[in-house]
Amino acid sequence: MSMKIAIITGITGQDGAYLSKFLLEKKYKIVGFVRSNDDYSKLEYLKIKNEIIFEKCDLLNLSEIIKNIQKYNPREIYNFASQSSVSLSIKEPFQTLQFNIISVLNLLEAIRLIGKSIRFFQASSCEMFGKFQNIPTVENDFFKPLNPYAISKVTAHQIVSNYRKLYGIFSCCAILFNHESYLRGEDFFVKKIVKQAVEIKFGKRDFLKVGNLDIKRDLGYAPRYIEAMWLMLQQSKAEDFVISSGKSICLKDIVYYVFDKLGLKREKIIVDKDFFRKSDIPETLGDNSKAKKVLGWDYEMDFYKVLDFLISEEIDNQRLKYFKNKGIDEDFKSI
Ligand code: NAP
Repeated sequence: MSMKIAIITGITGQDGAYLSKFLLEKKYKIVGFVRSNDDYSKLEYLKIKNEIIFEKCDLLNLSEIIKNIQKYNPREIYNFASQSSVSLSIKEPFQTLQFNIISVLNLLEAIRLIGKSIRFFQASSCEMFGKFQNIPTVENDFFKPLNPYAISKVTAHQIVSNYRKLYGIFSCCAILFNHESYLRGEDFFVKKIVKQAVEIKFGKRDFLKVGNLDIKRDLGYAPRYIEAMWLMLQQSKAEDFVISSGKSICLKDIVYYVFDKLGLKREKIIVDKDFFRKSDIPETLGDNSKAKKVLGWDYEMDFYKVLDFLISEEIDNQRLKYFKNKGIDEDFKSI
């Protein structure tokens, strides 16, 4: 059987890196579409950078995309490239909307014009629901986006659905709820809490500043979420799926758990009103039963277990960074 080829956009991000690792283990050939001056540190961290073919490809340029897809003739395309921060989207709405929408339209147009049966995955977001109408929410609930990032994801989501219905292209979206890992961007809540708490433990920081801790989020573990994304492209029919943990957790419980685990005093947590968002959604919670039933995705991880992984990986890496040439402090062996 010939080798399966997958193109991944946004390969330098968290999900791109974990999906690459997963597909390499399944013996895929991986082509990463990148822009210039990329930071390959996540792929280097997973020790897979040398196994990937990189191709510079501007996702706002249709003819460049067509040329590069034809060059590799992939079975699957996973589209992760996106301006993925809500707060940055509020500061830069034009770039966010332009890139997050036109890139998806271009990729699908390229697939349509090439005319081959390429399977397309789009990373949609639970941000599309805005203030959740139903808890837990399902695939066909109403979208009421509250920021430019969410608007861009709703539009992209509808383009994907449109290409499926109009042209019969195998294109589908995962409505992704937040999923975390050591490789998550440092501005995102869970990564920030774990990283800064470990820095306090190592004496590199005095306090942790946080915003509204009274909200609840459906949070999961990224290396397991990418399995569901792959499964979506192995089905006989293209469909959208909510990919979530199916449980929500209060942010206060996350911070207290991390602090208790590291033996840190709670007085070091400072709630700062400047960190509050104008339109904070009180709770996100996704119903993942369709993904479990149709894809056979067996996600059951408790988020405290995920936090244990994240704390331990963060400690190991910070220890390497700060204490390379010193002995390991006894204090940290027991954590
Ligand atoms: P991430 O770590 O922020 O990675 C984003 C990727 O997009 C990076 O490779 C980045 O490349 C690329 N990118 C950004 N702007 C670009 C541009 N203008 N041109 C080309 N590439 C660009 O995101 P992630 O956490 O892996 O998430 C993957 C996808 O899932 C994203 O579409 C995100 O919106 C969506 N999603 C994620 C979550 C989550 O919890 N992680 C939840 C819902 C939806 P550079 O390295 O060059 O910056």
